[in-house]
Amino acid sequence: MSARPVKSGTVVVISGPSGVGKGTICRELLKRLDNAYLSVSVTSRPKTEKEVDGRDYWFVSYEEFQNRVGKGLLLEYAEVFGNFYGTPKDKLDEALAANKIAILEIDVQGGKQVKQIYPEAVMIFILAPNQKELAGRLFGRARDDEKTANKRLSRAQTEIEAAQRFYEHRVINDNLQDAVSEIIGIIETERTRKRTVTNKCNEAMEQSE
Ligand code: ADP
Ligand code: 5GP
Repeated sequence: MSARPVKSGTVVVISGPSGVGKGTICRELLKRLDNAYLSVSVTSRPKTEKEVDGRDYWFVSYEEFQNRVGKGLLLEYAEVFGNFYGTPKDKLDEALAANKIAILEIDVQGGKQVKQIYPEAVMIFILAPNQKELAGRLFGRARDDEKTANKRLSRAQTEIEAAQRFYEHRVINDNLQDAVSEIIGIIETERTRKRTVTNKCNEAMEQSE
């Protein structure tokens, strides 16, 4: 798999243990950034009552998911908690071509694949202030049954350890708005750094002509 440098937009990967607040943070980022695009993943997981097809995920059968994998329509994909999740390529490419901040809320296996394809991706791992708070949020949102919620909680440590290698930024989601401000700061710093490098390269090329 060869690396694809991002010509204009910025790829931002947001990962973290289940229940840490990734979805909540991403929704806030969309409100506060006027040039952000939030990728809607495809999943073979069954839709819950509150979820909306096309807004939360594109819900498809296992066969349809594999069909899309076979056709090369997904940038990355992974099996998480027994279901498949993947990032559609087409909409992401459009967002990047339009110089947008493309936010991917995906797991660490997917994050690793994205970093290999887009080495300039901004990798942010979200942590809870402590394990008790994480458990409280996971059980408090009342989306999963107890067994599923426990399975999600027990995976948290594995995710945190796997994240050490690929995620250069870690943000603690204690106060929501503070965490979102910190993430916006990280994204802006990375975009400014990239612009500076691009300008310097252009100047160097002009001088050598
Ligand atoms: P994830 O997408 O990581 O699984 P969610 O965004 O669904 O997590 O959040 C899990 C629960 O935690 C939700 O009930 C959400 O309202 C709550 N939550 C998110 N951020 C905070 C925060 N900073 N403080 C308290 N509760 C939070
Ligand atoms: P949930 O079932 O809670 O919505 O998501 C379970 C896990 O799947 C979360 O860790 C979430 O970040 C991850 N996930 C969601 N979409 C994608 C995706 O497109 N690719 C990958 N690799 N993981 C995803």
